[in-house]
Amino acid sequence: MQTAYITHSLCLKHDMGALHPECPARIHAIEDQLIASGLFGYLQQHDAPEVTREQLLRVHDAAYIDSIQSAAPQHGTVELDGDTIMNPYTYPAALRAAGAAVMGVDLVMAGRVENAFCNIRPPGHHAERARAMGFCLFNNIAVAAAYALDAHGLSRVAIADFDVHHGNGTEHIFHDDPRVMLCSTFQHPFYPYVGAYSGNDHIINVPMRAGDGSEKFREAVIDQWLPALERFQPELLLISAGFDAHRDDDMSMIRLVDADYGWVTGQLKQVAEKHCHKRIVSALEGGYELHALGRSAMAHIKVLSGL
Ligand SMILES: [Zn+2]
Repeated sequence: MQTAYITHSLCLKHDMGALHPECPARIHAIEDQLIASGLFGYLQQHDAPEVTREQLLRVHDAAYIDSIQSAAPQHGTVELDGDTIMNPYTYPAALRAAGAAVMGVDLVMAGRVENAFCNIRPPGHHAERARAMGFCLFNNIAVAAAYALDAHGLSRVAIADFDVHHGNGTEHIFHDDPRVMLCSTFQHPFYPYVGAYSGNDHIINVPMRAGDGSEKFREAVIDQWLPALERFQPELLLISAGFDAHRDDDMSMIRLVDADYGWVTGQLKQVAEKHCHKRIVSALEGGYELHALGRSAMAHIKVLSGL
């Protein structure tokens, strides 16, 4: 099997309220599409382990980790910011979400699969070193990148982030660490209202305007991401896979279609084939219109799996 599929039942129990767009049904929306298409049976299934404190400490402050743990409610909910809410299952789900990304790194580094998709929530790319925001508590993909560098001895890890929101947390964590390249497309000006002017040689931010669609997105990838990745020659490619730039997703106004997600995955797969021994670990970030999310993630995973 070429592709691992990593999730955990606790990711379904983290629930921020009936009207919250980052809802448990997102996990099912993706899994149902995979099952209906017949792809599910061709994926190597794994339950995510809990991330360890040592793994979290590479990208988060100890006091922050403690504050999240102690904020976790026994009953009811607690607001970390206006749209990031904890219920009694949030903290254990967040440990599994970050643990999934770490497991993905172990699986691809061991050659047990070529790539892995982590169907996880809470998402991660807005979480900074010491700040939860934008539905995110721990920065799953950043935890995986730091783990690959330290535990597997890699020198260069790239993160591609096609979520419609800028991964401010990922940039915050790696802005001064040239071992990690972040290639990001995002709507701007738009939440979290940063990223347009903060790039450097290894932070490749490509802001897009409301109304930009497939053509502009593909131009950004071809003109900005791919030359940077070619120069960087990553040994491992991670993907912050947010599907909220889809035209059916009313969270945003970048109008991508299902096929764009298959296309960008194909481009990244070529980079991974050339430089990374095919190794890719992809983790779910955003994507809130459930039908579009299911179809787009399916297009992404189908290309990863080569089926
Ligand atoms: Zn997003």
